[in-house]
Amino acid sequence: MANTYDDQNIFAKILRGEIPNNTVFENEHALAFRDLYPQAPDHVLVIPKGPYVCQDHFANAASDAEIVGFTRALGEVCKILGLADDAGNGYRCISNAGEDGVQEVLHLHVHILAGRPLGRMLQKA
Ligand code: AMP
Repeated sequence: MANTYDDQNIFAKILRGEIPNNTVFENEHALAFRDLYPQAPDHVLVIPKGPYVCQDHFANAASDAEIVGFTRALGEVCKILGLADDAGNGYRCISNAGEDGVQEVLHLHVHILAGRPLGRMLQKA
């Protein structure tokens, strides 16, 4: 999978302020906002501000500061949603990549899903 970043993707447009979003948290390196089509009562997307296509691209190419900022943003969102420190009933993080991962938006995002039982991790195809 080529990690060629297209800056016309919808999350790049959100980062540039060209389309609106429902922000939950923001820091220097990451933005978290509610998914437009939530699949659970809480469904938040956390994205890095840099041009990374997917998780491995980010993990291998981002700076330490970006990785720390992005990871801290995940933690802050869990606090905001009342999920951190064993509060709440748990959650699931998902990061889809590429064709088999059925990634629709080619800017790295981690889905945080919570607020209902989420079932088994994968269904048989
Ligand atoms: P994925 O299939 O992992 O690439 O997920 C892309 C996610 O982006 C889906 O859950 C969509 O509902 C969500 N999405 C698409 N456009 C927007 C938008 N403008 N604002 C918030 N979420 C969006």
